[in-house]
Amino acid sequence: MSDHAFATRAIHAGQDPDPMTGSIIPPIHQSSTHVQDGVGGLRGGYEYNRSGNPTRSALEVQLAALEGGAKALSFASGLAAEDALLRSILKPGDHVLMGNDVYGGTYRLLTRVLAPWGIETTTVELSDLEAVRGALRPETRIVWVETPSNPLLKIVDITVLAEVAHEAGAVLVVDNTFASPALQQPLSLGADLVVHSTTKYLGGHSDVLGGAVVFADDRFAEQVAFQQFAVGAVSAPLDAWLTTRGIKTLAVRMRQHSENAQAIAEWAAARSEFESVFYPGLATHPGHEIAARQMRGFGGMLSLALAAGPDAARRFAESTSLFLLAESLGGVESLIGYPSEMTHASVRGTALAVPENVVRLSVGIEDAADLIADLDEALARATA
Ligand SMILES: *Cc1c(COP(=O)(O)O)cnc(C)c1O
Repeated sequence: MSDHAFATRAIHAGQDPDPMTGSIIPPIHQSSTHVQDGVGGLRGGYEYNRSGNPTRSALEVQLAALEGGAKALSFASGLAAEDALLRSILKPGDHVLMGNDVYGGTYRLLTRVLAPWGIETTTVELSDLEAVRGALRPETRIVWVETPSNPLLKIVDITVLAEVAHEAGAVLVVDNTFASPALQQPLSLGADLVVHSTTKYLGGHSDVLGGAVVFADDRFAEQVAFQQFAVGAVSAPLDAWLTTRGIKTLAVRMRQHSENAQAIAEWAAARSEFESVFYPGLATHPGHEIAARQMRGFGGMLSLALAAGPDAARRFAESTSLFLLAESLGGVESLIGYPSEMTHASVRGTALAVPENVVRLSVGIEDAADLIADLDEALARATA
C-alpha cells in the first residue's frame, strides 16, 4: 500500500473485503470478546476488545498508511489519544514546551490534569526559533506543535522545529488535526509522532468522536499501546467504522474545503470591515511560503478579525444562517464560532487567550458563492 498515492491509500489501506463473505466493506465487529480455540488459541490475535477489535485494527492500518507511519492507535477522542501518549512518554519532572496557541483542551490537559503529577508545561511562540531555544530545558521531553494553529492559523516550519527539538534531546509531536494528512504529513518532515482529533476532518461528517496517535517508528508504539490497553480509552467498533468510512473521501473533501476557504479569504481580504484575515493561502500571510512548501493545500479553517471590535464579532457569529454557530470543525457543513467565549473560553486570561474581535470559520464543502453570500448578509447585519 505504501507505494500508492494518498487518495488510493485512503480508500484501500486496511480495507480488504471480508474473507468469510466477500463483503466489499469490512464489517462492524460489534462484539466485546472472541472465542478461543483451546486456552490461548486466539484467532487473529483477538481476545477481548479493550486490547483489540478487528474494526479498530482496520482503522489503525488506514491511519498509519495516511500519515506514512509505522503504526497507529485509535482512541475514543482526540484528548484520550493525547493523554495516552503523554502519560506513556512522560515521568514526573519532565517538561513540555508547546506553542502559545495550541488547542485549549491540550493546554488544559497538561496544566490541570498532568501538572499535579509533576509534569511542567510552558508555552512559547514556536515560529521564533530564538525564543524556542531559550525555552528548551535539559528536562524538556516533548515539543508540541499545531500547524496551522487554532484559531490564528500560524504556520511553523516542521523540519526546522524537529531539528531544534532533536538537538535538545526532545521529541516533536505534531497535532495534525487542522491540516489532515491529505494536506500535510509531519512524519515525512521529521516529526516523531502525530496526534489527531479524528472527530474533525478525518471523520469529516460531524457524527463521531475519535482520536489517534501515529508513530514514525517503533520507539514509543509499545508503551502507548500498553497505556491504551491498561486504561481503555479505545474507540468503539461503530465509531471506528464511521471514521474509516469518512476517511475514504478525505482527499476530495480537503480539496473542496481548501478551494472554498481560499475564495472566502480573498473575499474577506477585500472588505474593510475585517481588520485581519488569518488564512495561510493568502500571499500576505506571514507563514504563506512555509505553508506552500510543507502543505499540499491550505485547508478549510480561517479566522477573521472584525475592525468594529468584539461586539460586532459576536453579532457576526450569531448572524449567519448557512454557517451554523457551533464548536468543532472539519465537517462537510460550514460552522462559525466565537473562540474567546466558545472553543477557547478555557484559556481566557492566559497566554493563550484569543483576541475578542476574532471569529473562526470551519469552511464546509457547500457551494462557495452561497457561503460568501451568507457571510456578506451577516456582515451587513453585524456592522449596521
Ligand atoms: C478537537 C481538537 C482536539 C481534541 O479532540 P477531541 O476529539 O475533541 O477530544 C485536539 N486538537 C485539535 C487541534 C482539535 O481541534
